[in-house]
Amino acid sequence: MAVIWKSEKRYEESGIPMGEPCFFCGEEADAPMVFWTGVKGTNLVLHPACAVDLTLRLYRDVHEVQQTLEVHIEMVTES
Ligand SMILES: [Zn+2]
Repeated sequence: MAVIWKSEKRYEESGIPMGEPCFFCGEEADAPMVFWTGVKGTNLVLHPACAVDLTLRLYRDVHEVQQTLEVHIEMVTES
């Protein structure tokens, strides 16, 4: 996971094609972008503002699960 800046070497090394669509809005994303790679190698490319919107919606969905199941979901961290 990272923020990709256009001036950074890792932008070229990331293998992200120019104009990759943002996962959230579908519009062309360019640096700076939020970039994550999933465990199976799938790339997630987001405009920074779209990352905020997506995060809020993900939190909302988790809150719904917690409220419905009456459980508290713990954060999963790497050791
Ligand atoms: Zn977007």
